Amino acid sequence: MHELSIVMSIVDIVNQQAEASNASVVEEIEMDIGCLTTVEMNAFEFAWQQAVRDTSLEKTIKKINRIQGKAQCMDCDAQFSIENLYDACPACGEHLIHITAGKELRVKSLVVT
Ligand SMILES: [Zn+2]
Repeated sequence: MHELSIVMSIVDIVNQQAEASNASVVEEIEMDIGCLTTVEMNAFEFAWQQAVRDTSLEKTIKKINRIQGKAQCMDCDAQFSIENLYDACPACGEHLIHITAGKELRVKSLVVT
């Protein structure tokens, strides 16, 4: 389950930032998780519960923005939404597409006190 390692690295980042700003409580964390990442949200949620137990993040409110997948065709320049990485361009059927959104996996903001 790779979600656990993702969660662990997020928790690390958050703890470092909280420490750097002398915060004792992380009230809120906002994350961007693109729809084209391989993160499975149920597994992510489960991993999160495991990872934050007995830590300063245990009561943190978690906001997750799912970023819709978007791509641009490298052949005809059409821009379109995609559901998965291997979708073809709906305009010309070309598979050479450039992913422009949906692969985000980042901590967007923290509210600490
Ligand atoms: Zn195209």
